[in-house]
Amino acid sequence: MTISSLRTQLQSGETTPAALLKSLVGEIAAKDTGKTGAYLTHDLDAALAEAEAADLSLPLGGIPIAIKDNINVLGQPCSCGSKFLAENYTAPYNATVIEKLRAAGAIPFGRLNLDEFAMGSSCENSALQTTRNPHDHDRIPGGSSGGSAASVADSTAIAALGSDTGGSIRQPASHCGVVGLKPSYGRVSRFGLVAFASSLDQIGPLTRNVTDAALVLQAIAGYDPRDSTSLDTPVPDYSQHLNDGVAGMKLGVPKEYFENEGIDPAVKTLVQDAIRKLADQGAEIVDVSLPNTKHAVATYYIIAPAEASSNLSRFDGIRYGHRSEAADDILDLYKKSREEGFGPEVKRRIILGTYVLSSGYYDAYYGHAQKVRTLIRTDFENAFESVDAILSPVAPTPARRLGANAGDPLLEYLSDIFTISANLAGIPGISVPCGTTDSDNGSKLPVGLQILGPHLGEAKILQIAKAAES
Ligand code: GLN
Repeated sequence: MTISSLRTQLQSGETTPAALLKSLVGEIAAKDTGKTGAYLTHDLDAALAEAEAADLSLPLGGIPIAIKDNINVLGQPCSCGSKFLAENYTAPYNATVIEKLRAAGAIPFGRLNLDEFAMGSSCENSALQTTRNPHDHDRIPGGSSGGSAASVADSTAIAALGSDTGGSIRQPASHCGVVGLKPSYGRVSRFGLVAFASSLDQIGPLTRNVTDAALVLQAIAGYDPRDSTSLDTPVPDYSQHLNDGVAGMKLGVPKEYFENEGIDPAVKTLVQDAIRKLADQGAEIVDVSLPNTKHAVATYYIIAPAEASSNLSRFDGIRYGHRSEAADDILDLYKKSREEGFGPEVKRRIILGTYVLSSGYYDAYYGHAQKVRTLIRTDFENAFESVDAILSPVAPTPARRLGANAGDPLLEYLSDIFTISANLAGIPGISVPCGTTDSDNGSKLPVGLQILGPHLGEAKILQIAKAAES
């Protein structure tokens, strides 16, 4: 069920928010627990209390929305998929997006698995549980918002929030066959999102369809004085032009994204077919060039770990989270708490980030990466002078098998090639399902089309996504 169809049912009295919550719990027990594994926890009693007071006249009145476990909801766990926070951390406040969802009538319900501290592209870096792709349980759901995408695809959630630092909403959305939107940097408040890389992180919706993505974005977007990077610009009506189509639009296709040697032929064909169908609807397809694409992975994997190493220094065993029992003195307490609490990928990022920020290497790596980041942003600015939006694949391959990249972080990082540039440039992007490809064991694996727009161009990419969906 979509948000829009449920709203009709709720308003006519055909169902109630409490009945909806109970049916979700039934679905979770039947399909998720010990199977897909998207949910880490959920608290039905707390949600039922909220359901009783639900104002059904509000835009998301009575609609349960599941939350990635790195977004704080007062009184609920917020493990970040890490042993560090899983033991003894309960959120002492609400993220702004949670306050906004509630102000729109929604009921935040359930905590969803993720790669530890949102570092990963498969959800396999969660220290807590395996999440599987609902279309094929032998495969990854994608990451880091793997729980968010899997729950929506599996109908154990109606919609979910995720976070996207380098593709973590769009890539799992593509692998699970749902819609995932990363807003422009500054459009949605990051207050209450556990920081991974603050200059790249954004919260956004994962939904069954484009209409729902517009509804959830509408609820969570807007200025927040508690986030110093939040933009104080008016939020447009994201549903207003959804059905206006693409006739007369110019849509750019970056050759660098299609000439990439790692791209699976089936993905390429499905995305090219989707582009052709947009042309059939009256869009003009234009070749564009984003020449610095080849530097995006290297640039991101300097900047993101640098910021992560700084952000994660707060996890010291003193203030909150895991504290080692085996420490002899204060320095040992820091060391052992971090050694015991963090998983291998998080440690790799902290070491990498500390290295590129260290004196002697700062200019060569971090300073240089910042300059290349500007070039990548300029590539997009130049392209958007002649096109309304850019079309590309989301990920080079469909969902891979669990464990396929085990022990090879570089291979894993390369799967981010099509998504990370948008975060480096601060622009919005959406993944919309564009077909499926057959796997060798007979499952049908979804593939997404990515639509990137100019800064604050959410309304436009939603409009194009809606046309692609139709
Ligand atoms: N896969 C990327 C990484 O591992 C992006 C993750 C994200 O967007 N949170 O950093």
